[in-house]
Amino acid sequence: MTKTQNDAHDLVIGGGATGVIMAAQILSRSGRRVTLVGRDAAFGHGIAYSTRDADHLLNTRVASMSAYSDRPDDFMDWLAANGLPARPDGFVSRATYGRYMQDLLRPWRNDPRLTLVQGEVVRLRPGAAGVTATLDDGRAVDADRALLATGHALAAEEAGLDNAWRFDGAAATDGRVVIIGTGLSMVDQTLSLLNGRHRGPIVAVSRRGLLPLPHDEGVPEVHAIHPPVGGPVSQLLHWVRRHAREAEAAGGTWRDTVDSLRPHAQALWQAMSQDQRRRFLRHAASWWGIHRHRIPPGSGARIRAAMDSGQLEIRRGTFRRAEPGVAHLRAPDGTETRLDAARIIDCRGILRDPATHGSPLVRDLLEQGVARMDPLRIGLDVTPAGHLIGRDGQPQPRLLAVGPVARAALWEVTAIPDIREQAVQLAIPDPAVPAVAG
Ligand SMILES: Cc1cc2nc3c(=O)[nH]c(=O)nc-3n(C[C@H](O)[C@H](O)[C@H](O)COP(=O)(O)OP(=O)(O)OC[C@H]3O[C@@H](n4cnc5c(N)ncnc54)[C@H](O)[C@@H]3O)c2cc1C
Repeated sequence: MTKTQNDAHDLVIGGGATGVIMAAQILSRSGRRVTLVGRDAAFGHGIAYSTRDADHLLNTRVASMSAYSDRPDDFMDWLAANGLPARPDGFVSRATYGRYMQDLLRPWRNDPRLTLVQGEVVRLRPGAAGVTATLDDGRAVDADRALLATGHALAAEEAGLDNAWRFDGAAATDGRVVIIGTGLSMVDQTLSLLNGRHRGPIVAVSRRGLLPLPHDEGVPEVHAIHPPVGGPVSQLLHWVRRHAREAEAAGGTWRDTVDSLRPHAQALWQAMSQDQRRRFLRHAASWWGIHRHRIPPGSGARIRAAMDSGQLEIRRGTFRRAEPGVAHLRAPDGTETRLDAARIIDCRGILRDPATHGSPLVRDLLEQGVARMDPLRIGLDVTPAGHLIGRDGQPQPRLLAVGPVARAALWEVTAIPDIREQAVQLAIPDPAVPAVAG
């Protein structure tokens, strides 16, 4: 007997924001069953939305954060229904967004098509008849497709370093805090320290010392634009600069250009050769990141005030290693320095090599040749349609990557507006992939 799409079964691995958005899309768009497996009891939080600190705000305006692209008001409506009305152009806390994500699967709470499983998938094997996942406690789950929503590869614990996503910023001291990284997580941690009445100096170090730029009070004007797709990176950067100058001359800001460029980001990335991608990562990615991933105006003002008062120092340099109470840094001129530190917080972000920092599941997939690293080692090798590529170079018809796991193929797929689009595309399987017989 051949299965219909209505009794087909999808396994979604990873209980963060991507996992719940993916599950919700499958359940709302098809008659398929879904088993969602996540390590944590709270489905929907993941690393971004687990924070309890009310000053850790979304970096994206409320109006852009609906889980559904075809229902742009869904998040606004949820806020209102929960007595938390917010302006569409405002910024709410990531903890609040975590509650929204946690509620996303509520419509299917009593639907037999949805099964939530707390546990960790440690092994996944595709076969002709489907996929079999093994959990850390030995349980097995069979499904027609598996969608990896396992998120970011995180750094393993290192002696002497507080992990940005586990450090609560509570301790108020007079000692120096060294923060490795000057990006969005550094902003979060600095705000937590300031809220905790930390009195000592804060030194934030990164190779280029670039800080995320703030949003404007006004909402950027998104225009239909036609960036040069497929040309050299230098040509693209030249085009962006010229376009930004023109936007400013017309009374707008460079933010209009950056936000207008976003819908083209995946096409631009996909049209690049490996060499162009390498150049982009080396020369332009951090520059793009600070313009593209902006912080709310209020957060920007507090960071600026901390710099002006001298409490926060942004330093160019490379982190070498930590030992308890001491950070070893190298300045751009090669000078090695030791900085005494009451705390050293690792805010190096999420661009980690999954082969070395990945979860047991990702390492197993690589070891077994079910998956392989992309040539630039920024993630698993994935087709633009989301299929994992095995060591033999063949796309895996039943194994898909969604959200940040698919970054090597899509680049801009780490923020909710991009993740929700990809989830729509993957919710209904490619008809070229046969349903499981049985
Ligand atoms: C600090 C921060 C702030 C951000 N702010 C914004 C913002 O304002 N706006 C925006 O649009 N985007 C923002 N983002 C982007 C963000 O990456 C995504 O919104 C989202 O976190 C991606 O979620 P994810 O579920 O893919 O990954 P993760 O959050 O990493 O979650 C993956 C989950 O899967 C689980 N897991 C992993 N492997 C397994 C396994 N083998 N078995 C079972 N479970 C497993 C993990 O435990 C984890 O819970 C932010 C990101 C960060 C880090």
